Order: sequence, then structure tokens, then C-alpha cells
Amino acid sequence: MDQRLISISRTRKTWKNATRNVMVSPLRLFFPETPEDIAHIIRDAETNHLCVRAVGSGHSFSPVAISHDYLLNMRNLRKVHQIDKSSLKPEARAHPDFERYYVKAEAGITVKELNRQLDNMGLALRNMGAVNFQTVSGALSTATHGSGIAQPAFPDMVRSLYVAGADGKFFQIEPADGITDPGKFSSERGEQLIQDDDIFYSVLVSFGAMGIIYAVNFEVVPEFLIKEMREMTDWNTLKQQLISGHFIEKVVRKYEYVSFRVNPYAVNGRHLCAVVKQEILPGKPKLSLNSRFKNLKSSIFGNIPLLPTFLIWYLNIRPKAAIKSIDGFLEGTKDKVFIGKSHRTLYQSGTNIKRHGISSEFAFPVDPEKIVEIIEKIFVQAEKNIRDGNLYQTSHIPVRFVQASKAYLSTAYGRETAYIDIPLLQKTIGDYEILDRYQDIIISEGGIPHWGKINNRLYSKHDITRKNFPELTKWQKVRRQLDPRDTFINAFIEKTGLLKDPGSTV
Ligand SMILES: Cc1cc2nc3c(=O)[nH]c(=O)nc-3n(C[C@H](O)[C@H](O)[C@H](O)COP(=O)(O)OP(=O)(O)OC[C@H]3O[C@@H](n4cnc5c(N)ncnc54)[C@H](O)[C@@H]3O)c2cc1C
Repeated sequence: MDQRLISISRTRKTWKNATRNVMVSPLRLFFPETPEDIAHIIRDAETNHLCVRAVGSGHSFSPVAISHDYLLNMRNLRKVHQIDKSSLKPEARAHPDFERYYVKAEAGITVKELNRQLDNMGLALRNMGAVNFQTVSGALSTATHGSGIAQPAFPDMVRSLYVAGADGKFFQIEPADGITDPGKFSSERGEQLIQDDDIFYSVLVSFGAMGIIYAVNFEVVPEFLIKEMREMTDWNTLKQQLISGHFIEKVVRKYEYVSFRVNPYAVNGRHLCAVVKQEILPGKPKLSLNSRFKNLKSSIFGNIPLLPTFLIWYLNIRPKAAIKSIDGFLEGTKDKVFIGKSHRTLYQSGTNIKRHGISSEFAFPVDPEKIVEIIEKIFVQAEKNIRDGNLYQTSHIPVRFVQASKAYLSTAYGRETAYIDIPLLQKTIGDYEILDRYQDIIISEGGIPHWGKINNRLYSKHDITRKNFPELTKWQKVRRQLDPRDTFINAFIEKTGLLKDPGSTV
């Protein structure tokens, strides 16, 4: 290995994900500083028949990010700037009714830092997940989503991907009708421009299995404010509103970002629910003092470092307390009204969750009856867990709504999607076993597990992957084309059946 690669790498290092349930000691952990470093690492790996993989912030609970050979920490690649529109097609520069904006963000920048820099430019992401700890490339690679039935998830805000692939070659990948005018294309480092739907929509959500993304062009929007309202209700009322169609048509489709949370346990015969409605405010309204601060109680409790450790200890000796504490939490997050910058309002968490929260999450079509059926199956299982093993779940169930995605392996591919999440506090007794039971029930009901969350029940059930992703064959073909020597695969890709020939029954 040459001196440059030695100088940007370490050996005998153990990499752990944020929740520390996934760890690996790769042959070498690299900290590339330029795309050329990445190309160099890829060529070295190919010469030595080794695999290469980039990690983001390690915020996937599944082992999607690990490699036993070469692992690339992308933290040194985090610059962001607006792109020069002179090489774009006229329709990409401006819509008849509005200006269009794009930024090129290096792969290792976190969503938090990107938001900060966009803010300085007077711009913003249209949507994001509930937290901002992920890197942009990690977030799009597992199809990270927030909520908003007409709003894009991460992959669907991407217009071009910059990828270092087999042989260390550089590509700029866009859909067939991509924003770049091929006649005006000038590459910074010899990138080949590919404008092809199958390649773009395959690479968008590919868990690092088609090369190392070193930068991403996002379409962004002028900065905007969101008004958030949280209302408390109960499951019976919400269930009726779901079944009558009122909730989807008059709430989910009316406000830009809507989600709800429900206590899986009934307290005094009632499952408490909190409905979060967020609407984009036009212009720059004046903010009253009490609308400027996000719910103070949840902000403080969500960020006190030792609180979850104490809570986990307490809930392990008094497990029944979980039932009422979920109601208490939901009540505590109630805001009168909060008005804030988009990224502050869409952020729905505290820093505590990143070390202590784990979850399994499932995608369904937006079918109110199905949503009701699954939520009520979760209620039944939550009670059964108590009866069978005195096991208690430690969080509410969030439900979010997302626009159909064009990315072939997005869990929202081709349909408006409802995501039903089952978060837990890690290290409460029965944590992973509870998630195993829910996975069995919900996968058998057609729920598609989130790639980055706890999804171990997917391993070896390859028919599920095949059934859920109609464009899997195209994805596999593109993968073979871009990675002919299998340099970018890992055990997760194999275990989930993504490499298998769709005709195979194994
Ligand atoms: C507290 C918490 C809250 C969460 N909230 C949400 C949520 O609201 N919505 C949601 O959908 N998900 C959520 N998730 C899941 C999380 O967004 C995803 O798992 C996301 O992929 C993590 O991003 P990361 O940067 O940590 O990437 P990692 O977990 O480090 O990596 C994810 C995948 O991306 C690949 N990858 C990373 N960088 C590159 C690159 N440069 N080139 C090629 N491949 C790359 C990795 O190899 C891996 O396959 C949450 C997770 C946590 C811990």
C-alpha cells in the first residue's frame, strides 16, 4: 500500500454504529480527503480482491453499513455550494412560475450542517427525517423519510449523484431527463455524465452497493417557516376519522406535513394519540414570543444526557410504568403553536434518541383500513407480550405519510406510503425480542421493513424482497454493470437477497 493510503487510514480500529448494536473491525478504516483518495482506495481494494464501503454517521440500526475489508469514514468531505446553473438545461434553471435552486453537497456533510449552511444562503431542504444526525449520502442510501404526503423523502430531492465506481472511475449520474445539458457539460475531475433512469433510480437507494458517493446535487427551495400544531385525541376518534376518509383527505392532504403518534397501551380504556399538523407559512410572519420556542419540556428532557440511562434502569425494575409514561410523554410534547424555520420544525427529537432509541419501521400503501388493522394488531401484541413474558414496550407508535418515490429500492417506491414505526428504548428488557415479534406479524401483513432500521427478520426470507420491489431485477442488472467484481457488496446485501437472481428459489 502506498504512503498516501497509509497516511489517511488506521488499522486495529473498531467502528460502532450510533446505538452500538453493530460493530466491526475492518482491515482498514480510511478517512479520505478528496474524491481522488476514494478512487485510489477502490483501485487498491480491487487489486487485493477486497470490498470497500462508505459509512455515514452510523445511524442505521441494521448492519447495512459495515464492511470487513475497507471502510471509509466520509467526515472530511463536507463542503457545500450552490451549483453554477450555466451548464443546466433552461427548464432546470427556472420553472415558468418560480426560480429553481440546487446545491452540491459533499457526501460526508450531516443533515444538520447542510441545514445550517443552506440557512446562510437563504435556502432550505424541502423535507427531512425526524432527526438531523445522518450524513446526506447515508440518509439517501436507505431512503430516509420524514412526513408529508406530497413531500419528497431524501432520495427524491436528489438531482445528480457523483460516484466513484469500479476501477476508481468517476460518474455524474442523473435521470434520463436530468438537469444537466449534455452539450454544456464540463466535468471537474473527468466524470462521465450518465443520464439514464434505470441507473439513476437504482443507485439512489443502493446502500453503498454500487460505488462510493462523493457528492450529491440536491434541489432546494427558498427558506420557509412552518407552523406546527399538536392536538391530543384518542384512538377511537382517530380510527373513525381514518375509516371515514376524513383524516387522509382533510388533514393529511390539507397540511404539508402530518403525522400521528399513538400509545400502544390503553390507559383507563383509552389509547392516547397526538396528531402533529405542520403547515408552510407564506412570507415572513411576525413571531410571537411563545410561538418561537419549541415545547420547552420535551426539548429539555430530550437532551439531558443521563436521563435515558435512569429511565431505562427505572423501567427495567418497574416495567408497568411504561404504560402511563407513554401518555405522559405524549401529553408533554403538546405545543400550543410553534412557528419556526423549516428545519427546526421538522426536527422532532432530542439528542438522547441517537444512543438509546432503536426501532423497526414498516411501509404500507396509504390505505386507512390497513393502517387501522396494523395499529390494532400492535395493540394486541403489546398486551400479549405482557401476558406471555411480562415484557413492556417503551414508546408510542409514530405513523408518517410520504410521497411516492421513484427510487427503485425505496420502501415508498411507486405509491404514496404510510410508515408505521415501533421505537423502543434499547436495553429495556426484551427490546430486540419485542421487535422480532412485531417484524413477524407486520411483514406477514405486507409491511416493507425500513432498510436502516432493525430488519433482521428479512434475512433469508428473500421472497419478501423480491415481492416488494418490482424493479429489483433492473436494480440487480445495474449493480452488476457498475460493480462487475463485487467490490461494493457486504453481508447485509447478500443476507437480504438483493444479489440473488430473481429466478432463484434459494
Ligand atoms: C435517532 C434516529 C432517528 C432516525 N429517524 C429516521 C427518520 O425519521 N426517518 C427515516 O427514514 N429514518 C430514520 N432513521 C434511520 C436513518 O436515517 C438511516 O438509517 C440513515 O441511513 C442513516 O444515515 P447515516 O449517515 O448514519 O448512514 P449509515 O447508517 O452510516 O449508512 C447507511 C447506508 O448508507 C451507505 N453510505 C453511507 N455513505 C455513503 C456514501 N458516501 N456512498 C455510498 N454509500 C454510503 C452505507 O454503506 C450504508 O449502507 C433514524 C435513525 C436514528 C438513529
